[in-house]
Amino acid sequence: MSLLEKKRLLIKDLMLQGYIVSEKVRRAFEKVPREEFVPENYREYAYVDTPLPIGYDQTISAPHMVAIMTERLELDEGMIVLEVGTGSGYQAAIIADIIDPESRGIGHVVSIEFIPELAEFARKNLIKTGFYDRVSIIIGDGGLGTFENKMIYDRIIVTAASPKIPKKLLSQLKINGIMVVPIGSRWHQILYIIKKISETEYITIEDIPCVFVPLRGLEGFDKKIDQR
Ligand code: SAM
Repeated sequence: MSLLEKKRLLIKDLMLQGYIVSEKVRRAFEKVPREEFVPENYREYAYVDTPLPIGYDQTISAPHMVAIMTERLELDEGMIVLEVGTGSGYQAAIIADIIDPESRGIGHVVSIEFIPELAEFARKNLIKTGFYDRVSIIIGDGGLGTFENKMIYDRIIVTAASPKIPKKLLSQLKINGIMVVPIGSRWHQILYIIKKISETEYITIEDIPCVFVPLRGLEGFDKKIDQR
């Protein structure tokens, strides 16, 4: 079976299981070639619904998790989105396709990666697939957000497990903005969907169980003994 056929089957399956719901997410899954975001030796597994290694003990998330998080973000054209954990760049490309499908300069993704080598891997992947014009990659500690609070975002997605809700990120979310973040221990988390109602009020939904690699840096697990 060709990669294209495998991709069509995967998308159909993700729709049947209720992970892909909206037309814009379905279209993004069709347009973004996951095989270009995994190491060469994993290309043939690109459309298996599983995380895959991308080096440095990190993974590209499973397609169903990318679908769930993308749907929960309720993205629209023209939005400015912050991603913490660039990894392969795949999730950033999916978001970029939704917020600026025709590449008209109306939406943008700012994505932060802790590991410089992965930031470079993602940059190359985004260039070769044509999404780099809609994504900026920053090397740093994404738990702290960007630009010392000078930027605020319509949406924030954290693709690594956080021990608690990262407060600095909340302060960089616009009112009516949505943040999607896995919260819990190193080994098991719940996907939190947080909507900012005012500068001090939030609606928080504890969504589904999930397992992500740990967030590093000051807001992450590095300096903490996790007892949960
Ligand atoms: N979104 C990625 C993709 O589409 O391939 C998958 C992300 S992977 C599950 C988690 C990533 O978060 C890893 O690349 C890891 O290096 C990164 N990470 C962990 N802690 C971080 C931090 N404090 N700031 C930025 N990136 C971080």
